[in-house]
Amino acid sequence: MPEHMDSPQVPEVMKAWVIGGPDELILTEKPVPKPGRAEVLVRIDAVAICATDLEILHYGSPALVQGGKPFDKNFTPGHEYMGTIAALGDGVDEFHVGQRVTVEIHAGCGQCKRCRMGMYTSCHNYGLNYGEHNKGHRANGFTTDGGFAEYAVNHINTVISVPDAMTDEEATLVVTAGTSMYGLTELGGLVAGESVVVSGPGPIGLLAVAVAKALGASPLVLTGTRDSRLEIGRKLGADHVINVRNSEPVAAVKEIVGSKGADYVVECAGNEQSINDAIRMTNRGGKICLAAFPHEPARIDLPYAVQNNIYLYGIRGEGRSATHRAMAMMEAKRFDASLIHTHTFALEDLPTAIRYARDRVEDAIKVVVKMRGVERVSQAAE
Ligand SMILES: [Zn+2]
Ligand SMILES: [Zn+2]
Repeated sequence: MPEHMDSPQVPEVMKAWVIGGPDELILTEKPVPKPGRAEVLVRIDAVAICATDLEILHYGSPALVQGGKPFDKNFTPGHEYMGTIAALGDGVDEFHVGQRVTVEIHAGCGQCKRCRMGMYTSCHNYGLNYGEHNKGHRANGFTTDGGFAEYAVNHINTVISVPDAMTDEEATLVVTAGTSMYGLTELGGLVAGESVVVSGPGPIGLLAVAVAKALGASPLVLTGTRDSRLEIGRKLGADHVINVRNSEPVAAVKEIVGSKGADYVVECAGNEQSINDAIRMTNRGGKICLAAFPHEPARIDLPYAVQNNIYLYGIRGEGRSATHRAMAMMEAKRFDASLIHTHTFALEDLPTAIRYARDRVEDAIKVVVKMRGVERVSQAAE
């Protein structure tokens, strides 16, 4: 019998935010979900806001709920959360009630070609988790209910134990570091002594700097447009930072890594200019990870890429258990991910928290919502 049935701490209903129309969030009540086989119920303690949450709220995609956009479907977004195990589904002995955990997003179907390769973020049955199409795929906050709520159900493959010394806020950042780690894994994994350029100091770019440093990248260069963020990149391990408003990035990078160009570029800016700069600063046979989520097609310098045998790797999310490797590095304090956490709000203040993240109020980078122990913003402050 699942443990939640006789666990008095788990209520029947919970507070949850749901998406109404585009850019509309509604605070409502929902039944607390029940974990099935190989699943756990997580009492959410903290959840970080991601740029992708803002995309989902505004455009709908890349969320895919019951075969379509997530609007007016009582759908709860939010995917970068951590919490405490509140109940176990059938067959679960990997975790115990009361254990602090963080989550990764994608539990693939486990049976398609890509899932079998460990590429569960590219599951061929993405979003097929309803009605007659139920293949068991889950991506909480994208295709199934996510973390802007008091509880969520997670497949055990998406759950990672949090060490006692790690704060709730830092634990919400593990999946972001896992995404950066996945990019470096797909580029070849071992970067010791190789030159790495990261373009775009958003959360994934900044943690790509941290992970690349921990993997031994040298020299390690960060490019971007905001000095305040480049400075955080320096603290996370960038040997050199380049403000592309003041210097032409291809020439500036080659001055540092040598005229042949960089071995690896992790492209986190996602615009036409930055992608072409990445191609032209990569050496022959070098590799580029495309980690940003652009909305427009880009014209790219294909002749240069082909003539120079440059590899382009698009990544989606956090595959190949990269989040576990990121957690191992964070637990060993190889870098301080909490440098990118800037603001904390209460769950009820989610719309304000979203505004801070979207408009970068007070230079916000990672905005975290906590379920307990955070004072609400007064209406006057709104
Ligand atoms: Zn995210
Ligand atoms: Zn699959």
